[in-house]
Amino acid sequence: MAEQAEHVANIPSTMRAWQVTTPGPIDGPTAPIEMVTKPVPQPGVGETLVRVLTCGVCHTDLHVSEGDLPVHQAHVTPGHEIVGEVVANGPATTRFKLGERIGIPWLRWTCGVCRYCRSGRENLCPYSKYTGWDHDGGYAEYVTVPEGFAYRIPERLDSVTAAPLLCAGIIGYRAFERANVPAGGRLGLYGFGGSAHITAHIAIAQGIEVHVFTRGKDAQKFGLKLGAASAQGAYDKSPVKLDSAIMFAPVGDMVPNELANLAKGGTLALAGIHLSDIPALNYQYHIFHEKNLTSVESNTRRDGETFLTLADRLNIHPATTPYALDHADEALRVVKHGDIKGACVLRVGND
Ligand SMILES: [Zn+2]
Ligand SMILES: [Zn+2]
Repeated sequence: MAEQAEHVANIPSTMRAWQVTTPGPIDGPTAPIEMVTKPVPQPGVGETLVRVLTCGVCHTDLHVSEGDLPVHQAHVTPGHEIVGEVVANGPATTRFKLGERIGIPWLRWTCGVCRYCRSGRENLCPYSKYTGWDHDGGYAEYVTVPEGFAYRIPERLDSVTAAPLLCAGIIGYRAFERANVPAGGRLGLYGFGGSAHITAHIAIAQGIEVHVFTRGKDAQKFGLKLGAASAQGAYDKSPVKLDSAIMFAPVGDMVPNELANLAKGGTLALAGIHLSDIPALNYQYHIFHEKNLTSVESNTRRDGETFLTLADRLNIHPATTPYALDHADEALRVVKHGDIKGACVLRVGND
């Protein structure tokens, strides 16, 4: 006999959701995303249905909406920093109880059997699937997730605060690990949106000296308020040579200056999924002296669990700006233009 799905009584049949209809500039004449009414999805085998409480607005959502990352599913719903309440479990789904608060991140599925998955590097799985790109995400009232790829949300984090931790936080954490920051070392952060400011929190809480590079004057002030040692323009010379740097802006033109600002043996980690072309580099000036240049691709579930535990322990509390679900397009425009005090978060349902 097949196992029956379990669910709470009052799940509606339709919901409001944004979808990417005509990818293009978010501030252009034709809106790339539109709000529609569509059926509430059904959880499949091993999947949980979640009533969305909040969903963070990430730069990647902008890339998907604007077509820098061509959609993997026509009319996909963006959003992959989702906090919600479990309202139904599909067949053979037992991990979470109804009513439990869980988080749904960018990484939606990996194969589990390829050489990357088997060596603890599922972030490099060639068959991986992503929330809000391959499958509908959280700019909607309901969403499904394979239960093995969701996270429990620590009790003391409210749902607005927790949302940006699920991508901005986790990816920032992986980038921080990839940047090999020595104990008590100097770290440069290029671009200062959601991911960078959470990473600054984590670094400063561990005694690392942080230097912020961003064009936004408000973002510079915000960095200093968080405890950064300096804040300056995106292309400025660093006041000190840096052991490590993380680039959060999708601007390849910034890379030569970032490499020039590194100390000997330093590491630059490029955290974005998309980057415009990097100009020609001068070997002597940018790469010699054993400088390391690396990228960061997604994250493993272990990164996510480690980061959420650390965020709880260090009481990481990202600054957020809430938006109604109806204003997701406006939030994306704010993300595009960069000068924000912390992360934009859509409030979708009530806690
Ligand atoms: Zn795999
Ligand atoms: Zn993201």
